[in-house]
Amino acid sequence: MRTSIEIGKALGIPIKLHITFLLILPPFILIFMNQPAPFGFAEIEPFYARFILATLTTIILFACVIAHELSHSYIAMRHGVAIESITLFIFGGIASMKEIPRDPKVESRIAVAGPLASILIGSTFLILHVPFSTIPGNIWWEGFGILAFAMGYINIILAVFNLLPAFPMDGGRILRAYLAKRESSYIAATRMAVQIGKIFAILMGVFGLIYGGWMLILIAFFIYIAASEEETATNIQTFLEGVEIRDLISRDVVTVNPDITVRELLDFMLTDRHKGYPVLDADGSPIGIVSLTDVKNVPKDKLDEVLVRDIMSTDPIAVTEDESAAEVLRLISQHNVGRILVVRDGVLVGILSKTDLIRSIEILRM
Ligand SMILES: [Zn+2]
Repeated sequence: MRTSIEIGKALGIPIKLHITFLLILPPFILIFMNQPAPFGFAEIEPFYARFILATLTTIILFACVIAHELSHSYIAMRHGVAIESITLFIFGGIASMKEIPRDPKVESRIAVAGPLASILIGSTFLILHVPFSTIPGNIWWEGFGILAFAMGYINIILAVFNLLPAFPMDGGRILRAYLAKRESSYIAATRMAVQIGKIFAILMGVFGLIYGGWMLILIAFFIYIAASEEETATNIQTFLEGVEIRDLISRDVVTVNPDITVRELLDFMLTDRHKGYPVLDADGSPIGIVSLTDVKNVPKDKLDEVLVRDIMSTDPIAVTEDESAAEVLRLISQHNVGRILVVRDGVLVGILSKTDLIRSIEILRM
């Protein structure tokens, strides 16, 4: 199921809305309609003016969140990091980068860029608010003044919140980058940043319990979980980068000829019981992969006519034996394939399936 829709492009990056984002729009509009000035339009009459102003404020608010993410993305792209998309969802915005750079200097620059953009936008709105509040005008004029104040205030809060020294906030990344310059390794820096983030989350939770701030408790809980996830992800990533696939691939590969029929392939599969086979042409170079899924699309009465050549997926993804498990996993998920070919000088030497790779990783990590 498609869970996000693309609404446009900025800096060449697709901007997407996640389904959960639509849930957050009505409550935001309601809040802005019912908050008294200077944070909302409760005193503005008539009703439709209140509604239009609150809706406009909500749209601008999310444009500001996109600007925050674009700012991260812009710096990332300048350092050669590809950005796949920016998605708005219920908790805000997220820019998906192909890979997060390990250079602490680059990582901290990318992380700082977002809050910096929010502070800049916030200050601009606060300055803009001044003429609206000092010069009297009609209700729209008054409304725009409130809009400017609310946007200024919220963007500054957004920046401060994002600078909290805990994952997944930008502050957590800045902290890790800072630690990575002095710690022995990236992983040690991550562990330390995670510990600081957890302590921070616990303090926040205790503070929330004492003063009855349930939002604070919820955020603290969210930060605590995210910190643990970041640690696991970094551990796995670092581990996988050190593993060459050389020892994990299956070398006794069963291959098939492109010119056999699908019925012949099925008979063969029945005894061999693999789910996918590399297809080799006459000189032994791989030209495709055929799997049970491809076979399922062939009508029953055509099994004797259709050839493997017609149904195989062409341009199979191939890597060499010294590729890291991290890169192979990335390719497998990016192209959404079940197996990847391993070649040496264009000749097939082995195959690595997603399930085998994951199983090997689990065993190696014991
Ligand atoms: Zn950010």
